[in-house]
Amino acid sequence: MRVMNEQMVVLVTGGSGMVGQAIKKVSEEENHPNEKWIFLSSKDADLRDPEETRAIMRKYNPTHVVHLAAMVGGVYKLIRLNCDFFTYNFRINDNVLDSCKELGVKKVVSCLSTCVFPDKTTYPIDETMIYNGPPHDSTLGYSYAKRMILVMNKAYKMQYGCNFTSVIPTNVYGPHDNFNLEDGQVLPGLIHKGYLAKHKNIPFTVYGSGTPRRQFMYSVDLAKLIMWSLREYEEIDPVILSVDEEDEVSIKEVAEMVSEAFDLQDGVHYDTSKTDGQLKKTASNAKLRKLLPDFKFTPLRQGIKETVDWLEANYENARV
Ligand code: NAP
Ligand code: GDP
Repeated sequence: MRVMNEQMVVLVTGGSGMVGQAIKKVSEEENHPNEKWIFLSSKDADLRDPEETRAIMRKYNPTHVVHLAAMVGGVYKLIRLNCDFFTYNFRINDNVLDSCKELGVKKVVSCLSTCVFPDKTTYPIDETMIYNGPPHDSTLGYSYAKRMILVMNKAYKMQYGCNFTSVIPTNVYGPHDNFNLEDGQVLPGLIHKGYLAKHKNIPFTVYGSGTPRRQFMYSVDLAKLIMWSLREYEEIDPVILSVDEEDEVSIKEVAEMVSEAFDLQDGVHYDTSKTDGQLKKTASNAKLRKLLPDFKFTPLRQGIKETVDWLEANYENARV
């Protein structure tokens, strides 16, 4: 349990991204007197560079770090840049954790992804199953860079006593997401396509068959859970942050929700020449529920509507 009057200086790497901006919003609303939050973007420092990383860490001298910075993308970008995803993200993670050790940062929470889980597995997946097999080939580089954070967290604890932990969120969506049609993930991609269908009459087309299933979480919910993990979660081993298993939906269902949110009349089209990627990766949130039984997730329809409204209001400056 957190000591309530402890002064915390929290540095958020990747603070300009979707998850970072959600944490910024929640931390500003909470306005906690003992917490100072600093949000970094790649313009403050290129964290692939060890010297730049050390310099920015020394400048702010944080007591706590939320490590979000990463090259992120949807399944089609992950396939296209499989190797770059490994080298880019591994360098960032190595530099960030090394600087945190050097500065004696009290706690680091790094953000993994359910891509770390084995492709061939039983469901639901839980935190004990990560090393039971290789990840899906489409996400190999990204997944192994994330898996290496787990290795580093454990090794930093064993050799140096560092308190570095991690969280494993399922698919996230919300304001400030990457809405780029080629590089983004499915929900921002579909919301952008819904926008183009409404404003430019371009057919609303889902890539693949629509049968894969995913657990989607609103970025503001993830922000609250990451802030909880920074303050209260005490293990080095990771915790899955996810909606319940029964809230998993098919891509078809989610496309229909987006179509409804834009009030589209032309139906949903499917481009089955595009790969489906992983068919499902159903994650168990039993560990989270045990620690935080009453947490309420934003209903998917509501989160989609809020994200649609955000894109309508911010299209000119959004990542499209
Ligand atoms: P995002 O919106 O793409 O944001 C990425 C952030 O990383 C941005 O702030 C970006 O800075 C920063 N960054 C990228 N390269 C950098 C570099 N070389 N040096 C310094 N900063 C750099 O991503 P997100 O969706 O918020 O994801 C945040 C974290 O959650 C990531 O670790 C991701 O793997 C994880 N995650 C995401 C999802 C999801 O569905 N989105 C699901 C599970 C886990 P600029 O703004 O300056 O480019
Ligand atoms: P994943 O959840 O890590 O596999 O990555 P994505 O969010 O990119 O994709 C999830 C699923 O959505 C895959 O089965 C895709 O085939 C499907 N999908 C449907 N339409 C789109 C789209 O417009 N963009 C993306 N990225 N995926 C789409």
